[in-house]
Amino acid sequence: MSNLNNILKRLLKQPTAPFHEYHVRAEIEALLKKCPHVKLKRDRFGNLLATYKNGKAKSKPTWVLAAHMDHPGFVKPAGSTKRDEWEFLGGVPQECVEAGVKRGLRKAKGRIATWDFPVKVTNSRIEATACDDLIGCAAIVMTFLELARLNIQTTVHAAFTRAEEVGWLGAWQLAQKWPFGKDSVFLSLETSRPVNGAVMGGGPVIRVGDRVSIFDSEAVAVLMTTAKEQGIRVQRCLLDAGACEATAVQAAGIRSAGISISLGNYHNLNDARQIAPEYVMMDDLKSLIALMKALVATKHDGIGERTIRERVEMRMAEHEAHFKAGSKLFK
Ligand SMILES: [Zn+2]
Repeated sequence: MSNLNNILKRLLKQPTAPFHEYHVRAEIEALLKKCPHVKLKRDRFGNLLATYKNGKAKSKPTWVLAAHMDHPGFVKPAGSTKRDEWEFLGGVPQECVEAGVKRGLRKAKGRIATWDFPVKVTNSRIEATACDDLIGCAAIVMTFLELARLNIQTTVHAAFTRAEEVGWLGAWQLAQKWPFGKDSVFLSLETSRPVNGAVMGGGPVIRVGDRVSIFDSEAVAVLMTTAKEQGIRVQRCLLDAGACEATAVQAAGIRSAGISISLGNYHNLNDARQIAPEYVMMDDLKSLIALMKALVATKHDGIGERTIRERVEMRMAEHEAHFKAGSKLFK
């Protein structure tokens, strides 16, 4: 996947902040524009939507892979013309932000400013200002390019959303006018702090839920089954240190689940609560891309081969004689 390093460098160097995702969106569009079988569209909120459709084949359910294009950062207050007037948007304690500014880490670009760290991509590790969630964006772009390269016949959608860091605004807007059909499942791909047994380098974390919600159990089961079939190492955990876009979309009535890549220095805070670059492990990202490819290329139907109803009914039929024999002895 030498292509992956290139995609990572191109995306991770884009400055971004809530409501100011234009550099990232333009780069994703440039990366996917010539990808066979892919159609791009923008919704009215400015989210970028993509559909890969090759032939008539479909996975069941049809997946909507989603990642957000923003990251906590500085924006100019609307209408401000002052050179040094900034507002910080996103979940980082104010004293930590101020200490970072004092250390000279803020770098302006137009009407946004970001922490100024270089992008470092090695075989083992990826480091940048905004792994959250440009890693998720890169995973989706790479998945689509791989599907096209391998000429995989399937249909899968993607949503690259705006303004997640201020309360999932883009995902919420997307869910209000859900364009992907009723049988589709929203799958949030993001990076977050590993908790409850999750570790960095242990594989993508299939979230059973986040701080706010628990996710669609059938979708989680399909993810686990696919990982097992393909021999892809994953972790299954409740990541309740934060909440992801699956919570917003699920609350709007759409089946949802989430996968997380374990993130170091979450929201640019290191263990000493100083501003620092974020990082993720390369193997976790590669495993996520492998899992996404397998997920959309296979036709799963419910949980593995059988639904829970089918499983219970089979067991009932199998144990019918025991049920009758035992029931007779009740007085
Ligand atoms: Zn975040």
